[in-house]
Amino acid sequence: MVIILKQEHEERQLDNLLKWLAGLNLRTTLIKGERSTILGLIGDTSLVDIDMVKAIDIVESVRRIQEPYKEANRKFHPDDTIIDVSGRRIGGRNFTVIAGPCSVESCEQICEIAAKVKKSGAVMLRGGAFKPRTSPYAFQGLRAEGLEFLLEAKKKTGMPIVSEIMNVNHISMFEQVDIIQVGARNMQNFELLKELGGLDKPVLLKRGLANTIEELLMSAEYIMAGGNKNIILCERGIRTFETYTRNTLDLSAIPLLKELSHLPVVVDPSHATGVSRLVKPMSLAAAAAGADGLIIEVHNDPSRALCDGAQSLTPDVFEDVVDRICELLPLLGKNPVRNEKTYD
Ligand code: PEP
Ligand code: MN
Repeated sequence: MVIILKQEHEERQLDNLLKWLAGLNLRTTLIKGERSTILGLIGDTSLVDIDMVKAIDIVESVRRIQEPYKEANRKFHPDDTIIDVSGRRIGGRNFTVIAGPCSVESCEQICEIAAKVKKSGAVMLRGGAFKPRTSPYAFQGLRAEGLEFLLEAKKKTGMPIVSEIMNVNHISMFEQVDIIQVGARNMQNFELLKELGGLDKPVLLKRGLANTIEELLMSAEYIMAGGNKNIILCERGIRTFETYTRNTLDLSAIPLLKELSHLPVVVDPSHATGVSRLVKPMSLAAAAAGADGLIIEVHNDPSRALCDGAQSLTPDVFEDVVDRICELLPLLGKNPVRNEKTYD
């Protein structure tokens, strides 16, 4: 349930309302937006007499929220959430490009790719240290050493870093990682989501291989219910019967997520297609559909990559993708986030 408050209200009246709601065992979040002030209620709202609430002086209107996700719901929070990562913003009018290899393979590899993608317009660096591989015999990532190499690349380039967590016991190792990625395979690892809810660090939450949009939003809700509101949703393709592509990019999920939720939506065209030559058209399509950014796999030598070489772009092709995106963004009312400047 949300209570929309009149713009002019006294703090004392609001305090009385909050006390009354707390007495009904309801948790409240107060969101002061540009156009309105909204009080979101979480808990068993069946005891709340709507007519009684409507009669309170400072109440403009009351709405029940049917959807099971509350904190992630746009009805709770009408304005776009903008997440600030060391001055680089995600959400709102910003378009943010994150790039880097699937896996960190060596210090030289990650530092070389970091410098190249930064030069081409990426503002954050991705790189997996812990890799979720289908085969136990495949490269599993450099683990703690991989995180150290990523930190070295962060130090050299100043770019914030994004890396995937797979185990709740590893959280302390991610202290200096700027955005923790929850991969598709862990989207419903609820114990992990609950722990991440207790952190004050942005989480890039990827849609599961066979999960609905509502399930993705419910996973975001798990993290938000714990207090961490810095969630970036990521559409990375879903499993269908098609075999020419690794997954099927659900472009319609982008405007739907933007309508249903206030959280930023980033698209991963690399895992969505599995085919490097499809990354550029899908990146442009994602931007046109309203995405707030892209996370793209880039490798200095894709044919020798230890993981996901077939979908990785060379730095030159990546540069071309960013250039084309930057030509398109003015038509969409978005500004590319630069390493030095962002917008509200
Ligand atoms: C990745 O980003 O490297 C990854 C494993 O992605 P996903 O979880 O989307 O498969
Ligand atoms: Mn990958």
